[in-house]
Amino acid sequence: MPGEKILLADDEPQLLEVLTEFLQGQGYAVQGAADGLQALAALQKEEFTLALLDLKLPGRSGLELLSYIKAHYPETEVILFTGHAELESAVQALRLGAYDYLLKSDLLLADLQAVIDRALERRRLTETNRTLLENLRQAQEELAQRRSSELTQIRRIGETLAGPLTGQQITKGLLDLIWESLPLAVLGLELRGGGEDLPQEAYRRQPEVTDASLGAFKAWLKNQVQGWPPHWLGVGNQKGEDREAPLPSILKAWVQAGEVMGLVAAGREPPFTPEEKELFRIFTLQGNAAFKNLLLYEKVRSLAIRDGLTGLHNYRYFWEVLHREVELARRYQRPLSLLFLDIDDFKKVNDRLGHRVGDTVLKALGSFLLEAVRHADLVCRYGGEEFVVLLAETGLEQATASAERLRQGVSELTVELPEENLHFTVSIGVAELKVGTDGDDLVKGADAALYRAKQAGKNRVCGDDGNLRE
Ligand code: GH3
Ligand code: MG
Ligand code: MG
Repeated sequence: MPGEKILLADDEPQLLEVLTEFLQGQGYAVQGAADGLQALAALQKEEFTLALLDLKLPGRSGLELLSYIKAHYPETEVILFTGHAELESAVQALRLGAYDYLLKSDLLLADLQAVIDRALERRRLTETNRTLLENLRQAQEELAQRRSSELTQIRRIGETLAGPLTGQQITKGLLDLIWESLPLAVLGLELRGGGEDLPQEAYRRQPEVTDASLGAFKAWLKNQVQGWPPHWLGVGNQKGEDREAPLPSILKAWVQAGEVMGLVAAGREPPFTPEEKELFRIFTLQGNAAFKNLLLYEKVRSLAIRDGLTGLHNYRYFWEVLHREVELARRYQRPLSLLFLDIDDFKKVNDRLGHRVGDTVLKALGSFLLEAVRHADLVCRYGGEEFVVLLAETGLEQATASAERLRQGVSELTVELPEENLHFTVSIGVAELKVGTDGDDLVKGADAALYRAKQAGKNRVCGDDGNLRE
């Protein structure tokens, strides 16, 4: 290729002149050297694409120069001029890395040109190869880096969003993950249908985002969530919704877990890359899975602590709360009382009207009790046809009055059956937590009082002080 630099070393001035002229005519930049030392000086100054060296040179031989070139510029191609007498040296030169040799005796310019062309072509291929290899190495490095950062992010998802978490923790974890992994201007989450534990909304913004911009983003996101059912259900008129998007680039993902639904959205000026979109998708999918786990966990927990028939809390839950309340009552020296209720002659109801009617009576009693007690009181189905009511901040006298109110209320209940209007009664034992006793003693006291109420003729309230009321 014209412009490429060629070192030409020959101690025959005429040949040097002719060849220089020829090569310059071809467009090459030629550096001539009349002996080995001049050639060496030129080589020390700069790199050549090609060196044409006479094998026999005063000062430094062609072989010595060849060795120097291969040591310092491995990619410089070397072609040697040689006489018949030096053929052996020429072969050695090939072994040392020369590209070719030409016999001086019958040197044709056309041959010279062809050899130079081939040598330069080889050099270009080597260069292209090297560039390709370098690109490949860079690509591999980038890939390895990206993979390792993806792995880090995926590991962080595991650490952040796995395990039993509260709604607050999931919301914070999800937003943290997205915020720290993607360069964003704003990020928001709007949730609907969750319990008290689940935050309704959460937002992040860069410091330079103004209140007005954040406000516009919030309004847009809330509006999207109001557009329930979301367009992915194929319902509702959501067309063109992104036209009013407050930022040029928005990523969004719906969250849906049981009753809970919501939308996560991220916004900024520059477009998102496919990798960023994919990462956002993975994060929000994991967030959704975490919300589902939360609901599942709450459901399982609720199954474990509630009675299937009446929906009231069960025996297990009662004991959990009892221990806690006893602890609090003792620490703050507050009163705590317990009512133990038992349906009178319930077996007869079952025997006469069947088990199903018995169940209906149990449900009716459960609903009545739940309605009749204060918000702070705990009603549980203790087992069979026995119920307990735990009254915090309540002494024996007040508890006994409550029990009497309940007994009276139950006696006035009517369970409407196809064949008759059924009435039933309960007996109630009342006990107050005494100094130096625990939850077990409280239950035993109330149970013993209940026993006395039954003994005394049923449909009555008995305190563990032995007082009877009807
Ligand atoms: P008392 O007045 O002395 O309490 O007599 P009772 O018949 O109410 O008491 P007893 O302990 O003799 O019988 C309780 C009955 O409650 C026996 C049992 O079959 C019935 N029972 C317990 N659990 C259920 C339930 O879930 N559904 C129904 N239908 N009956 C139940
Ligand atoms: Mg009983
Ligand atoms: Mg009974």
